[in-house]
Amino acid sequence: MTVKHHPSEAVLFAYAAGGLGEGLSLLVAAHLSFCPSCRRSVAEAEAVGGVMMEEIAPVAVRPDSLDRVLANLDGAPVPNRAATPAPPRPTPASAARSTDTPPLPSVLSAYVGDLSGARWQWVAPGVRQLDLVHRAQGRDSAKLLRIAPGRVLPHHGHAGLEMTVVLSGSFTDEQGRFTRGDLAELDSDAQHQPIADSGEDCICLIGTDAPLRFSGLVPRMMAPMLGF
Ligand SMILES: [Zn+2]
Repeated sequence: MTVKHHPSEAVLFAYAAGGLGEGLSLLVAAHLSFCPSCRRSVAEAEAVGGVMMEEIAPVAVRPDSLDRVLANLDGAPVPNRAATPAPPRPTPASAARSTDTPPLPSVLSAYVGDLSGARWQWVAPGVRQLDLVHRAQGRDSAKLLRIAPGRVLPHHGHAGLEMTVVLSGSFTDEQGRFTRGDLAELDSDAQHQPIADSGEDCICLIGTDAPLRFSGLVPRMMAPMLGF
C-alpha cells in the first residue's frame, strides 16, 4: 500500500501542537496510521515544540500571582473538558484483507467498534453514514461515509477545512484518485465532486471544521440529511 495524498504541513503542525478539534484530529490520526512519512513529520514537530518549551526562559512573578490567578478563576466559566478531549493518537494500521469490511485503524475503534455490526444511517440512494464526532456549535465533526460503487456525491464547496481519509475502496475527484490511507484536504477556496470508483463500496472518514456549502437545489436539500 502506498499512500500518495497527505495533509499539508500546516495541518500536521496544528495536529502536533494540539490545535485541531476532536473531529479533525481523528482524521489526521487515521491517516498517520497508514503513513510512516507523516508520522515522522509529526514526531519532528512535537520534538521541536518540546525544545521550544524547554528554551523558554523562566520569568519572575509577583509574590501574590497565585492568589490573583485563583481570584480570577472564581466566577470564570468552567471549561467544558468533554468538548476538548486529547487528540486521538494513531497506531499503524494492519494490512487490508479481502473481506467486505477491511479492518479500521485502531484509533477509530473507540468510536465505531466492529464495523460489520455498525448501524449505518441512510442518506441518499447508495450513500450511508455513521456519525462519529457530532458537530457542536462552532466545532468540527467527523463521520464515516459508505458510498456505493459509481455513486457521485453532490458538488460542494467549503466554508472552512474539509478532510477525507479513504479506509476502503477508492474515489476520484478533481484532485486525482484516492485509495486506502490517502487524505484529501480541501480549504475554503476548493470545490469538488467525489465519485466512488467501481468495484467495491468506498468507505471514508470525512471531517469538517465548518458547514459545507452545496451548489444546486437537490444537494442543498441533502445537506441537512448529511448533517453538514
Ligand atoms: Zn502522509
